[in-house]
Amino acid sequence: MFEGLTGRLGDIFDRLRRRGALSEEDVGAALREVRIALLEADVALPAVKAFVAGVKEKAVGQEVLRGINPGHMVIKIVHDHLVELLGETSEEINLSATPPVPVLMLGLQGSGKTTTSAKIALRLKTREKKKVLLASLDTRRPAAQEQLKVLADQVGVASLPIIPGQTPVQIARRAMETGRLEGFDVVMLDTAGRLAIDDELMAEVVEIRDATKPVESLLVVDAMTGQDAVTVATNFNERVGITGIVMTRIDGDARGGAALSMRYVTGKPIKLLGVGEKVDALESFHPDRIAGRILG
Ligand code: GDP
Repeated sequence: MFEGLTGRLGDIFDRLRRRGALSEEDVGAALREVRIALLEADVALPAVKAFVAGVKEKAVGQEVLRGINPGHMVIKIVHDHLVELLGETSEEINLSATPPVPVLMLGLQGSGKTTTSAKIALRLKTREKKKVLLASLDTRRPAAQEQLKVLADQVGVASLPIIPGQTPVQIARRAMETGRLEGFDVVMLDTAGRLAIDDELMAEVVEIRDATKPVESLLVVDAMTGQDAVTVATNFNERVGITGIVMTRIDGDARGGAALSMRYVTGKPIKLLGVGEKVDALESFHPDRIAGRILG
């Protein structure tokens, strides 16, 4: 991830660093190259525009260009704006509500939603000593509920017993009721995905949301899907309302632009990163570390 972008930016910044004095035109030329590098890495256009405009405004200030080492100063400004674009702070899952805290898991089919649900359950169990109940609301794919049960058993957390014939909303209500009666801290509701966004999916998810009032509605998006990830996030955010994002397949060789655009286009934080197929392959999202990785 980010290798192509890191290489391109590295070349641009090497040239900047080697120059003693910098004119406004030099900065303008370098930023035009940065703009192309970001677009080629699949970063969404509005995010690129805002980013480049922000850096430019800061970098053409007299103090910067007349400073001792203007190249380094410009690179520092790029770094700071990158951190800002990514969201500045690292945010964990919000569990500040009366238990059982409902956490709704959203996303397209194949995004890694079910795996991520199990990963988060394991994380909450081991790090925060939470008693977690996993429930699959996917009544469409015949094996989906069993798949979640297998994963729940693997990570050692409870899963809601499967009752054939219930609708997703009925399962969600039963999960919350079980959570209350059996003293669970967190109830994770893994909703059904689709291959693409459709009205039926959104209506179902809205109905589940209204029935359970989730404290977190986490959208799981596959980083490999590039610009499509932005469309998916915008849609879910506008139609359902999300509180955070989990990017999966960060371990793959995607160009990384989706991860860079998410915060800007949705205004919602990336909270976690999926970095592999194993149930413990989940990491916190640290904007400064990612910015550092991108800038090499
Ligand atoms: P769902 O349809 O959204 O529930 O997706 P699944 O959880 O079934 O995941 C689909 C596939 O992606 C599975 O083979 C997972 O092991 C894999 N997967 C999920 N997250 C990651 C990740 O972060 N990295 C990699 N490499 N694979 C992942």
